[in-house]
Amino acid sequence: MLRPKRSTIKVGCELLKNSILTILSFLFLISCKQVDNSENRLVSVIPKPQSAILHRGYFSLGSQTQVKFDLANLSIKSVADQTIEWIRTCNFSEAGKGTIELLIDNQADLKLSGYRLLVQKRRIRITAKEPSGLFYGIQTLRQLMAANPGGKIPCLDITDYPAFGWRGLMLDCSRTFLPKAYILKYIDRLALIKMNVLHLHLTDDQGWRIEIRKYPELARICSNFDPQYPGEVNGFYTQDDIREIVAYASKNYITVVPEIEMPGHSTEIFAAYPDLSCKGNKSVIFPYFKGPGVTGDILCAGNDSVYVFMENVLREVIALFPSEYIHIGGDEAPKESWQNCRKCQNRIQSEGLKGEAELQSYFIRRMEKFIHSQGRKLIGWDEILEGGLAENAAVMSWRGVQGGIDAAKMGHSVVMSPTSHCYFDYSYETTSTEKVYSYLPVPKELPIEQSKFILGAQANMWTHIARTETAIDAQIFPRLFALAEVLWTNPVVRDYADLERRIGVKSAEIK
Ligand SMILES: [Zn+2]
Repeated sequence: MLRPKRSTIKVGCELLKNSILTILSFLFLISCKQVDNSENRLVSVIPKPQSAILHRGYFSLGSQTQVKFDLANLSIKSVADQTIEWIRTCNFSEAGKGTIELLIDNQADLKLSGYRLLVQKRRIRITAKEPSGLFYGIQTLRQLMAANPGGKIPCLDITDYPAFGWRGLMLDCSRTFLPKAYILKYIDRLALIKMNVLHLHLTDDQGWRIEIRKYPELARICSNFDPQYPGEVNGFYTQDDIREIVAYASKNYITVVPEIEMPGHSTEIFAAYPDLSCKGNKSVIFPYFKGPGVTGDILCAGNDSVYVFMENVLREVIALFPSEYIHIGGDEAPKESWQNCRKCQNRIQSEGLKGEAELQSYFIRRMEKFIHSQGRKLIGWDEILEGGLAENAAVMSWRGVQGGIDAAKMGHSVVMSPTSHCYFDYSYETTSTEKVYSYLPVPKELPIEQSKFILGAQANMWTHIARTETAIDAQIFPRLFALAEVLWTNPVVRDYADLERRIGVKSAEIK
């Protein structure tokens, strides 16, 4: 008996092979409409798997489906529990049969955080080298399930892995305070599309949003807006809120990177602690600065109390966030107040610095030394390159890509986030989803041996214009679908028209 040929959506770099496979797929689609539907379902996964082969038939997922895993392997338990819970909450048309096997195999031919998802008629098997791989396999399964009403998962064989290790989104919870429930919702959304970094911009001129036990006035005063400014949202995260966010993110294989801005973007601090500014002006009334943009007053780099204060803040931040990287901002710090400050000028002289740019570098180096002494790494916006980059610092390149290129050439880790492709507060006219999708995080100018320093990229969502959850969501999606795929799927596999089709399916799912 003649068996129908396999329909194959093979993602690879050989054009000819692809063409042949496309023709085979087409022939098979003509002969079997059932697989036609399955094929559409398969391509609705975002980010697109590196390699996927479709077979005939389907696995029927239902409430009776068993999840099998090695009970002795505690590292899988969390993923297994989440899988069981997910199955419990799905709507199925059938009771379902068969099993989902979660398998850790250290010898498997898989990349870091990669997985193989094999769907057969009676069995789904996800194999990975580490639990994160299993987790990503489950996310693919969740997407397949959502696109296949009734729980009929097409038989297929997916081998998948991320192109980059840093797949991030920054949410600005200072300009607009974003409630904890909204942050948790974003963790769900990021997990579903296999993103793994949530960077929280916790402090800025417009509000300090994290409780610091040693300085309770930061939360009490500096997060509290005057009601005469409509649209402003008061609020901060308690340390318990932060612990809940971090734990939930961790369960979803997402690292929460905290950002505490210094020495610029910090006037909100002066509402409670005016002595930390160069002017030491006690008449500061909050909100001190109404942004967006940059204010001239920044933390005094000549005052030792500033360093003590910031180290105490960071000590509590480090205790709350297990992230390898602690973000200290470092951007947009105008130097006029330092130029006119006796303490800052004394510091320049006593440290033998050449001027204010080197004073900024001195400030960041001191912070880097402290963060390093706590077993963590400093990351900052690309201005931290000015006046000399601190020894172990990583750079987040936002003013284009040059900062990232310079840092990588010096052997420093880099996260790319250029305004051209990654600023999601910009309008869609400026930065369309298609433009985001065209982004290549490793700049062409960078020699190949230094490309390893590009950890990945992230989208930045500043909240000075879009200030409601609905408006912020509309800025982020669908562009984040595009960036998720840029960071996960190899460029040879990417296809924008195909992404648009999948976005049509996924947009409902991400709500
Ligand atoms: Zn000063």
